[in-house]
Amino acid sequence: MTEFARVAVVGGGPAGLQAALTLGRMHVDTVVFDDGRPRNGTSPRMHNVLGWDGTEPARLRTAARDELRKYPWVRVVDHTVRAARRSADIELDTSGGPWRAENLLIATGVEDALLPIPGVSDLWGDLVLPCPYCHGHEHAKGPIAVISSGAHADHVGGLLRGLTDEVPHFEPEEVASVTRAGDRALITRHDGRTTEVAAVFIPPNPTPRSRIATDLGVRVEADGIVVDALGRTDQLGIWAAGDVARRLDPHVPAAVVTAMAAGLTAAADIAAAGAPPPRGSAREG
Ligand SMILES: Cc1cc2nc3c(=O)[nH]c(=O)nc-3n(C[C@H](O)[C@H](O)[C@H](O)COP(=O)(O)OP(=O)(O)OC[C@H]3O[C@@H](n4cnc5c(N)ncnc54)[C@H](O)[C@@H]3O)c2cc1C
Repeated sequence: MTEFARVAVVGGGPAGLQAALTLGRMHVDTVVFDDGRPRNGTSPRMHNVLGWDGTEPARLRTAARDELRKYPWVRVVDHTVRAARRSADIELDTSGGPWRAENLLIATGVEDALLPIPGVSDLWGDLVLPCPYCHGHEHAKGPIAVISSGAHADHVGGLLRGLTDEVPHFEPEEVASVTRAGDRALITRHDGRTTEVAAVFIPPNPTPRSRIATDLGVRVEADGIVVDALGRTDQLGIWAAGDVARRLDPHVPAAVVTAMAAGLTAAADIAAAGAPPPRGSAREG
């Protein structure tokens, strides 16, 4: 049997859960689908989130789900949305069966295509990191290495030099491996030389986590789903928020707080789009 919700939110990370809270507070019938693969899932600590600085990322998601229980018209289900199709509504093929929704918020986040250097993926989120705002301060005793090229290396290196004096730079093709050495990282070059550092920053190379947007004919560019300031995509009834959506300026950090802000903004627009017309207006039947 096909289930129905007025709004389907795909993704229960900071963007999707904040959107669900806003929709719940506006009494909008909402379902959130989540399959438990958050982008910061390998990080033992989350930083730069006011009120949660230094906590485990999972604690925020658990607290958010607890808060949503106050709003009975919001359902959070641990299912994967496998495909989406447009008919009169939006039809979703999920691991829990078929769903229909009038509106869709895509908040699926991204996954990172990491540098193919041995050891990098093992230490990702712990000693190999993407974002100085999130994890720079913790390693300020230095040195902090940057393995990257071009504009990314200049940008991240510049930020890190504000935290520590020693910021050694490596081109990715110079590096043979990155391994753990106690609570530090050991960078080994192809010529055998080694450098011990407090942490390593690399480019994250985010790629979309799901094909839902393309399935539905939504405009997607290399840097994400194209949205306006309210999170609207080019398809009526479809919004996107969080890391999966293109930021209005590339210098806006992809982070928990910005994802939550985008989720709130899109949800407010969804609620307003479905609000009854003003009394006495021509639209009132
Ligand atoms: C290693 C690392 C560490 C980070 N540390 C920090 C930090 O300390 N502070 C900070 O502010 N930011 C940090 N970030 C950035 C932060 O994780 C993201 O900006 C934030 O999680 C984006 O939220 P989101 O809701 O857009 O996506 P996510 O948090 O990635 O959530 C998306 C959710 O959607 C679900 N999903 C995806 N596709 C489907 C589908 N088809 N069906 C059902 N569910 C689906 C996923 O399982 C996931 O739970 C870090 C990023 C990385 C890579």
